[in-house]
Amino acid sequence: MQSYFELLNRIRDHLRRDSSVVTQRLNVPPPDVIIIGNRTFWRNFNAVADALRRDPKHMIMIIAKELGTAMTIDDEGKVVIFGRKDSASVKNALNYYIKLYVTCPVCGSPDTKLVKEKKITFILCEACGAKSPVA
Ligand SMILES: [Zn+2]
Repeated sequence: MQSYFELLNRIRDHLRRDSSVVTQRLNVPPPDVIIIGNRTFWRNFNAVADALRRDPKHMIMIIAKELGTAMTIDDEGKVVIFGRKDSASVKNALNYYIKLYVTCPVCGSPDTKLVKEKKITFILCEACGAKSPVA
C-alpha cells in the first residue's frame, strides 16, 4: 500500500517531468550573435546548448564545420566564431545540428539523448524509444 504522500510525490514528479519537456521544446532561443571585427560572438550559446541538452564541444565541432570556419570557447566561456557570420547563417547551422543530432528521425521529438556505441553515435529518443544511428 502506498501512502497518500508517496502518491502525491509521484504525481508531482510526473508533472515536473512533463512541464520540463514542454519548456525544452519552446525554450531553444534563436542565436544571439554580434560581429566585432573579424569575429562573431555567439552570446547565448550556453542557453542554446542547455536547452538542447547537448555537449557544447560537440555542438561547436559540428556547427563550425557547417559554417566552414573555426569556433572556440574563450577564457570567459564565450563562444567565438572566426569570421563574420550573421545570425541567419548561424541559425541555419544550428538547425542543421538540431536536425541531425537532436531530432528523432522516427517521431520528430527533440527529447533525445546521444549515445555512443562502438564508435557509432545513436540518437536515443525519450518519446518513442527509437534508437537511430546518426547519418
Ligand atoms: Zn522518437
